[in-house]
Amino acid sequence: MKLLQDRTAVITGGAQGIGFAIAEAFVAHGARVVLGDLDAAALDAAAARLGGEAVARTAVCDVRDADQVRRMLRGAVDAFGSLDVMVNNAGITRDATLRNMTEEQFDQVIDVHLKGCWNGTRLAGAIMREQGSGSIVNLSSLSGKAGMVGQTNYSAAKAGIVGLSKAAAKELARHGVRVNCIQPGLIRTPMTEAMPAKAWDQKMAEIPLGRAGEPAEVAGAAVFLAGDLSSYMTGTALEVTGGRLM
Ligand code: NAD
Repeated sequence: MKLLQDRTAVITGGAQGIGFAIAEAFVAHGARVVLGDLDAAALDAAAARLGGEAVARTAVCDVRDADQVRRMLRGAVDAFGSLDVMVNNAGITRDATLRNMTEEQFDQVIDVHLKGCWNGTRLAGAIMREQGSGSIVNLSSLSGKAGMVGQTNYSAAKAGIVGLSKAAAKELARHGVRVNCIQPGLIRTPMTEAMPAKAWDQKMAEIPLGRAGEPAEVAGAAVFLAGDLSSYMTGTALEVTGGRLM
């Protein structure tokens, strides 16, 4: 059964990692996707892997910049005729303890995650409310539920995304637009592969299912939230964590 047949989805940070896995799953479920990311070459390679122009377009887009996000969303509607799903996934880490974190590291993470997600939610929400339908999926994190050492910036941003999503869900519900979050735990991607081995092992020890998750396992939750199987869900945060910190 294809759950997203002929829907149009925009996925930020879609060139690699979880964003790319979400794009793959969406295309497998019949959607057409627009990938937004910073690097044109990485985007082109990702779109080619998805099957090329008929199903995947790209937009060089920094989610911190509202004009760039607006252009990407208009491009998606022009290319494919609607905007049905928006996935705010782009992210970075700048880990450091509270004692060592610079103001710049704090601001960078808040800007990409929280302002980026706000830009994506409000600008996609504006198109979807006119359409009378849509699903917005925002990538929070277990860090936003539990708080992680060395991540005061990231944990604040990811908890903020939950609040932002719930507020937006209340504003957009009467226009037929749902807003939900995913809170992944430890998922194997370029972001987490950069982590020191000791930190990786500590996290692994907390996971009841005994392994890290794969990007495709987060993508499964995104397909569910994007499509009609979740039609009565809005303002929720789904944990995809192998049971970690339940
Ligand atoms: P990743 O580093 O593999 O991919 C992130 C992508 O976002 C990259 O392609 C990058 O170029 C892009 N990006 C960064 N800044 C951007 C900007 N300003 N504008 C547009 N694109 C930008 O990371 P990932 O592990 O795939 O993470 C994806 C999302 O999932 C992030 O929001 C992350 O915080 C969240 N997450 C990841 C994990 C995990 O264990 N990997 C856990 C919880 C939450």
